[in-house]
Amino acid sequence: MELIVITDLDNTLLSKYKYDFTPALPAIEELKRRGVPIIFCTSKTLGETVSFQEKIGIKDPFIVENGGGIYIPRVFYENFKGEKLDSEFFEIDLGVPAQILYDFLYSFSKKYEVPIKTFLDFQPEELAKETGLPLELAILAREREFDLPFILLKGSLGEKKKLQRMARKEKYLIQEGGRFLHISGRHTKADAIREMFDFMGDKFNKAKKIGLGDSLNDLEMLSFVDIPIVVSGTGNPYLNKLKKALPHAKIYMNEGPIAWNQAIFDLLESI
Ligand SMILES: [Mg+2]
Repeated sequence: MELIVITDLDNTLLSKYKYDFTPALPAIEELKRRGVPIIFCTSKTLGETVSFQEKIGIKDPFIVENGGGIYIPRVFYENFKGEKLDSEFFEIDLGVPAQILYDFLYSFSKKYEVPIKTFLDFQPEELAKETGLPLELAILAREREFDLPFILLKGSLGEKKKLQRMARKEKYLIQEGGRFLHISGRHTKADAIREMFDFMGDKFNKAKKIGLGDSLNDLEMLSFVDIPIVVSGTGNPYLNKLKKALPHAKIYMNEGPIAWNQAIFDLLESI
């Protein structure tokens, strides 16, 4: 295994609002042909992530809910480890259960009278409208295990800071995703990547690691890889911060999957 691709989904492999990956299919097919694992590393849930894996036809290991859970599909696990697995996935959990996060947010909301709305408070139809997700994916998106996306209704910057302070005390993490704030245990996508690579051992660690992301919650993951690629459609509010923190990153200014496709082909050509 010479290469491993680690990629964010929202606004990176998937286009904004339409969640379309088809512009990246030529690069995906080329990676599959070369046997390069494509590790999804996302804030999405297990169900959503598996549905995208099925659509592009891969069964590679993946990370869900901003590093809360690591899943290794049975086929990949058995080939890689040479051992039988009795369940559909080998699973490693790093996260705090979503119910505990939900209760924490509502205790803050009550104490400071800041109305909050989490993914769990949206009806599936409403969430589909808000996010542009098709209804069947909106249903899967509500099945949170370790990371709860939310918005502060009428929330000011001051209230966001107050919440961040209170969360820090409890050892929770608040991160900005593309559209929502996210609360989780104190793990990042990079913690889960490190954990996964430790578990997978030498074969994984010796490969050249390519990372693709668009947002601040990708920063540590992009710092971990050998070749960081920032995918940024126009109007990405995090672009300057990412550029500053990752001076050696390659920047692609096209929309997610278009940039993804270009970046992978450029890279394969240069190696
Ligand atoms: Mg993203």
